[in-house]
Amino acid sequence: MSRFTAHTALVTGGTGGQGASHVRAFHAEGADVVIGDIDTGRGTALAAELGDRALFVHLDVSDERSWAAAVAATEEAFGGLTVLVNNAGVQNPPALIESTDPATWARVLDINLTGTFLGIRAAAPAMRRAGGGSIVNIASTMGTGGTAHYAPYVASKWAVRGLTRTAALELGRDNIRVNTIHPGVVATAFITEPAAGADAPIADFYTPEPFAVPRLGQPADITATLLFLASPHAAFITGAEHVVDGGLLLGPALKN
Ligand code: NAD
Repeated sequence: MSRFTAHTALVTGGTGGQGASHVRAFHAEGADVVIGDIDTGRGTALAAELGDRALFVHLDVSDERSWAAAVAATEEAFGGLTVLVNNAGVQNPPALIESTDPATWARVLDINLTGTFLGIRAAAPAMRRAGGGSIVNIASTMGTGGTAHYAPYVASKWAVRGLTRTAALELGRDNIRVNTIHPGVVATAFITEPAAGADAPIADFYTPEPFAVPRLGQPADITATLLFLASPHAAFITGAEHVVDGGLLLGPALKN
């Protein structure tokens, strides 16, 4: 398949569990890919593994100058930018709001929310130069309700939803679509490793058995929806939210 021939996709957090899956899939379907991440070791290794049509850029999504450099490097290497996946994200160590350090709050908002804002801001002019594009912001099912001990993360992902809808309104006339995916619980280091400052990973507290699809999500589950949204098949979809959670938000399934 070559749905993305003549496209260039920049994936932030592109060396992580989900990001690397997205990068590999875009590359396999013909795109030039740019792996944006703060993890230089994993990024250079993934770019080397993919070979032609792959570039690693050291990108800290919370840093405006880092974004300018990443978009410039993308255009220089591949002649344009048509797909942006704002996927980089971090969680907070679990804590009640009263015990949450304001520095933790700021760090999570800086990466998850401001990082997405800066990404849209940096990519939009490049996509306009390319004649249009698709931006997909990775939010979370945790950005659709409340979760005790996760106020910074929940707030950041809720805010990404409003940002997405506003960006869709502002950029539609430029042939740029902006959508959100809400992954449920996906088997990556995000849940199997403790967050910075945490003692135990989320996976220790989570069991998928009660839910409609009784398994953890896999990165490929998210990638499939992402590639659809980024493709021309989704040409009439913008400002929309896509829950990919195996039924998690439905609540526990009935037992027979
Ligand atoms: P992951 O921890 O495997 O990957 C996160 C990636 O983001 C890493 O490669 C990390 O280096 C990168 N990153 C962190 N800070 C960065 C920064 N400042 N600039 C650039 N890159 C940075 O986790 P994942 O599961 O692949 O998470 C991807 C996205 O999915 C995140 O936005 C996360 O919030 C979201 N999400 C994950 C789950 C889940 O259960 N895994 C559920 C819902 C939403």
